[in-house]
Amino acid sequence: TAITPSIGYAPAGKQVMAYTRREPIGVVAAITPWNSPLLMAAMKLAPALCAGCTVVLKPAEETSLTAIRLCELMLEAGLPAGVVNLLTGFGAEVGDALARHPGVAKVAFTGSTEVGRILLGSARGNLKKLTLELGGKSPAIVMADADLSRAIPGVARGIFANSGQVCVAGSRIYVQRPLYEAMAEGLVRAAGRLRLGHGLDPASDLGPLVSPEQAARVAAYVAGGRAAGAEVLAGGTGFPEAPAFFAPTVVAGVTPDMALMREEIFGPVTAITPFDEPEEALALANDTDYGLAASVWTESLSAAHRMAAAVRAGTVWVNCHSYFSPELPKGGMKTSGWGVENGPNGLENYLETKTVCMVV
Ligand code: NAD
Repeated sequence: TAITPSIGYAPAGKQVMAYTRREPIGVVAAITPWNSPLLMAAMKLAPALCAGCTVVLKPAEETSLTAIRLCELMLEAGLPAGVVNLLTGFGAEVGDALARHPGVAKVAFTGSTEVGRILLGSARGNLKKLTLELGGKSPAIVMADADLSRAIPGVARGIFANSGQVCVAGSRIYVQRPLYEAMAEGLVRAAGRLRLGHGLDPASDLGPLVSPEQAARVAAYVAGGRAAGAEVLAGGTGFPEAPAFFAPTVVAGVTPDMALMREEIFGPVTAITPFDEPEEALALANDTDYGLAASVWTESLSAAHRMAAAVRAGTVWVNCHSYFSPELPKGGMKTSGWGVENGPNGLENYLETKTVCMVV
């Protein structure tokens, strides 16, 4: 882009001519989480390659096979060797080595807030640029004028899709009192109807969690909530004969201090809570360290805009939850991250600005 500077240059008669160049940032380390492994890799590879960067992709140790196949296909499609490189392995070893490597200019990370914090330290040597797409505890706010025929299936999908292993999962549901009973009953019915089964069986609605350990973690959150006085309305159980599965679970009576309400569970578990006034819903929705996403369910245009402006989250959906498209910037506020992916803003992550300034 050509720029005409406002400050002159002596001696008089000389002109200053300037322009900027957008240059690729350099080698990118793309570190991805276990959930949606193909999508997470694509969201980093596409803009990095468009910007002219080379990439070292480090997939999650639980789901590396997708990345291996993707890299094979890219080579087969003619991508020159060395443009995308794949390193599998554990995060604390391979991911950490990449984050510390002086030849890496940028880390594009998607994963937990906990590991995001670690990266701040390990990437500081050469002051790598970081984008951090981290965890969430996203609210779904159902206003009294919501269309329940859309809100019930939409909110249910928002939490139960991929067995809740979604960063934006609607794990806190706040319902305005007149609709609370109907919404709770609807969600319980929706949870009960979901068929659990093999992830590749088209008849299954929900597959397993990523591992039996993750299912046990989810079970511990529910047990903790029960012990603290919360009431399980649906699900709440694992399956000894299929230890990686956990039943779609709806819990009521979860207070703001419970781990069930504060921590990211990454499983098919949601808390449902009534509210009276919109201000109360906003206070509850914003009472979290996270700020990844939220949904608002209402037929009122004014309420939709008011709530969308007041919720501190990187994405606010109205009458839908977990809708994505490559054109829409996606990022987190608060401890849900730094920077955004997707859209024109997403491309910026992989470019640096150089100013060229000449006296002619
Ligand atoms: P994780 O943080 O445990 O791991 C993510 C990646 O980081 C993996 O590749 C892992 O090997 C690596 N890693 C682990 N320790 C590391 C270290 N010390 N240094 C460098 N790399 C390290 O996350 P996960 O359990 O695989 O995925 C679930 C998390 O990802 C959830 O918190 C979820 O919300 C988040 N997530 C966020 C988004 C988003 O867009 N904001 C999208 C999907 C998932």
